[in-house]
Amino acid sequence: MARINDHYQKLAAGYLFPEIGRRVSAFQTANPKADVIRLGIGDVVLPLTASVRQAMHDAVDEMAVASGFKGYGPERGYAFLREAIAKHDFGDRGVAIDPNEIFVSDGSKCDSGNIQEIFAEDATIAIPDPVYPVYVDTNVMAGRTGQAGANGRYSGIQYLPCTEASGFLPALPNRPVDLVYLCSPNNPTGAVASKAELTKWVDWARANGAILLFDAAYERFITDPELPRSIFEVPGARECAIEFRSYSKTAGFTGIRCAYVVIPAELKGRNARGESVSVAGLWDRRTSTKFNGVSYPVQRAAEAIYSETGCKEVQANIDYYMANAGIIRAGLAKAGFYTFGGVNAPYVWMKTPNGLDSWQFFDALLSQANVVGTPGSGFGSCGEGYLRLSAFGFREKVEEAVGRITKHFA
Ligand SMILES: *Cc1c(COP(=O)(O)O)cnc(C)c1O
Repeated sequence: MARINDHYQKLAAGYLFPEIGRRVSAFQTANPKADVIRLGIGDVVLPLTASVRQAMHDAVDEMAVASGFKGYGPERGYAFLREAIAKHDFGDRGVAIDPNEIFVSDGSKCDSGNIQEIFAEDATIAIPDPVYPVYVDTNVMAGRTGQAGANGRYSGIQYLPCTEASGFLPALPNRPVDLVYLCSPNNPTGAVASKAELTKWVDWARANGAILLFDAAYERFITDPELPRSIFEVPGARECAIEFRSYSKTAGFTGIRCAYVVIPAELKGRNARGESVSVAGLWDRRTSTKFNGVSYPVQRAAEAIYSETGCKEVQANIDYYMANAGIIRAGLAKAGFYTFGGVNAPYVWMKTPNGLDSWQFFDALLSQANVVGTPGSGFGSCGEGYLRLSAFGFREKVEEAVGRITKHFA
């Protein structure tokens, strides 16, 4: 038998969302008449916008004639999309990003999971707790950790607790590390770092020679104009940060697949001889070796959200989801639950009632209210005692879910 990568066997029971899926389908099999409302997995529900659909159709038509046919495209994305990103996502907001600093991909899950490959096997890492599980799991797979302890934490990772007392924001690491993952707006808590907060991180990273891996998958959901949408709004971030953006939640692309990474030209790492090496150069090398680019129709679809109409359509969908978030937050708060988030992020973070742990409340909610949430403990040990509710649902379902939770648990 061939030897496997033993690090995979360190991974805790399974990825969070498949486990939720198993429990929900077991419940549905046992209760076929139950009308289950899913506010668990953070997946969008609204259909593609008209501009996106049209752009994809046009791109397919273009490729269906010899003169417009396209085979492999540039690994890092077509210039038309990288230029649109640089202009609309950054330039228009006063942030100078060159199109050549942008790498278009098929998702931020892959990007935020793959980025660790270009750093040393023994690079040290800090990760907020709770957070999107991909950062921890991919470092476990790469062998940067020991075994998981009883609380699910792996030795070798510096966890940054995000608790109610700190407004669910991570404190600076207490010892130097090479890499720090940050996610703002945060999945699952909905906490968003202010400009002062991000400045603190950038200053710390520069002083300590660390790189910040900044996941901004939810930046479009920020409603407060004072809050930063990009880490590159902070002076000095170009020397110490990588940013991940995704069209998944922004434009309903979870099934279409498009995202991008920004790696500034100034960002450097060091090799074994202590020489400085361009991080973008390494990512470019990795990308051209392991990836053959996002499909042309998809890149045209992504470009379409930057037109005036395209932008309005996408904003209307975001407003719809954020109105859902407001309904969840206000409804649960009125019923006496402790809630956080849901203002600048499409997630509401609620404390479990009656001293239940996260999975106990998940099961009770499923069996009594037929509502699916996401157990906070699945995002890290500091998520224990919380449940994440997603605003990605149809209005009537969201309202119904809030009514049921209140009826059964308030
Ligand atoms: C949904 C999500 C992503 C996006 O993943 P895609 O692969 O682009 O669909 C990235 N980061 C976080 C924190 C997310 O919640």
